[in-house]
Amino acid sequence: MTGLLAVGVVVALALATGGLDSQGRPTAAGTTPASPEPSPTNDAPTPAPSATPTWDGQVKVLGDGSTSYTGPQPKQPTPEKLKPGEKPPQFVVFSWDGALEGDEHLFSRFRKLGVENNAQMTFFLSGLYTLPKSKRALYHPPQHDVGAASIDFATDPHIKDTLEQLRLAWLDGNEIGTHFNGHFCKAKGGGEWSTDEWKSELDQSISFVTNWKTNTGFKDLPPLPFDYTKELVGGRAPCLEGQKALLPAEKAAGFRYDASSPGEFQVWPVKKEGIWNFPLQMLPFPARSTQGLSMDYNFLAGQSGDNLNGDPRKYDVWEKEARESYLAGFERVYNGSRAPLFIGNHFENWNGGIYMQAIEDVMKSVCKRDGVRCVSFRQVADWLDAQDPKVLDKLRALDPGQPGDWSRLVK
Ligand SMILES: [Zn+2]
Repeated sequence: MTGLLAVGVVVALALATGGLDSQGRPTAAGTTPASPEPSPTNDAPTPAPSATPTWDGQVKVLGDGSTSYTGPQPKQPTPEKLKPGEKPPQFVVFSWDGALEGDEHLFSRFRKLGVENNAQMTFFLSGLYTLPKSKRALYHPPQHDVGAASIDFATDPHIKDTLEQLRLAWLDGNEIGTHFNGHFCKAKGGGEWSTDEWKSELDQSISFVTNWKTNTGFKDLPPLPFDYTKELVGGRAPCLEGQKALLPAEKAAGFRYDASSPGEFQVWPVKKEGIWNFPLQMLPFPARSTQGLSMDYNFLAGQSGDNLNGDPRKYDVWEKEARESYLAGFERVYNGSRAPLFIGNHFENWNGGIYMQAIEDVMKSVCKRDGVRCVSFRQVADWLDAQDPKVLDKLRALDPGQPGDWSRLVK
């Protein structure tokens, strides 16, 4: 084993430096460049070996064995700069708040749909879904009693199933973000929390996910295949409340984006407080001649109020309304500015599951279309960070339905 390990380290160093090693072995792990392309050292950032931990092919179990480092995440696209004359890709992000694998098996359903439809997504995990109810006293929510929560604690079988889905989702290339913990809204909720209170909420969420093995006693389960302290780079606040105080907490934690902003126009994103702001968006709502927010809860509120099980005779119409709103939002930018489409949902069964069906239909309808990329929020951030800021400024000047002068976007 030791010999293998040593070889792995040499290979990793050769890759990192991109040149001949001191013994004159071939570059890049023995692969001699066969193409006439310029040396990768000219256009690809070469991490300094001393500054970057090298992957030696060994699984590194972290902490109590709840998480592990298994190498860079599989199935990730390489962000590419737009070329002259090129039209921007149409990004579509499907995102899921909570991410519990419950009795409805919605996490596994959409994870499989993602694989089948070429869609990678963002799962905003509620950290509490990795904490058993018997250990609820470990949770100290801001402005609430110890162990309190606005969502139900998961059952032990659901915690196990959720851990399994998280593991598979990450291996499929999906992103695991955070929906924080107790889902407190309105009075004493996230909208009233200070930055320090948000920091505490975030730290606790990370702690639950990185210590589930100790807290649950599920010693026979494999570790999550990622280092959550590094993979976690974005979140969505429950009820989309409290972004102002939350942003500095996220920035301090090294986040790259926040997806908590409600109801903004469907335009190319900007940064807020130094991180990308990926809002839910106002989409055309054809059936009501108005605009509606790109989230299941807002369709529910507009259709059956706060009744989660409205009149079943209306389900077909409501489902069609939701689907058509998402598709209208898609078509507007797909044939227009190409601004990313951001969609948020919970795993729920409201009004007979019509909002889940609407999302499934939209995913099947759009993700394989020409130029469309159904991706995670982090992958959108990667792409934006790879672009010329001047190009992004031009894109931001476009109205949602207004195509750019694509032949002259990048010169
Ligand atoms: Zn939520």
